[in-house]
Amino acid sequence: MSETKKTCDLCGLTVEVSGFTLKTKEGDKAFCCEGCLGIYQMLHIDQVTTEPKQPS
Ligand SMILES: [Zn+2]
Repeated sequence: MSETKKTCDLCGLTVEVSGFTLKTKEGDKAFCCEGCLGIYQMLHIDQVTTEPKQPS
């Protein structure tokens, strides 16, 4: 079974930890860390449709 690696939608690094995701009007975005998620959310706040979901 092959696992598709996502790349961070902000910095382009491989997403090693799932959970840093945002739903936007353009689709789901994935990030490598909380920092990238937060920056993307600030830059695209009008496109983000949900609150950031963080791993507990
Ligand atoms: Zn990143």
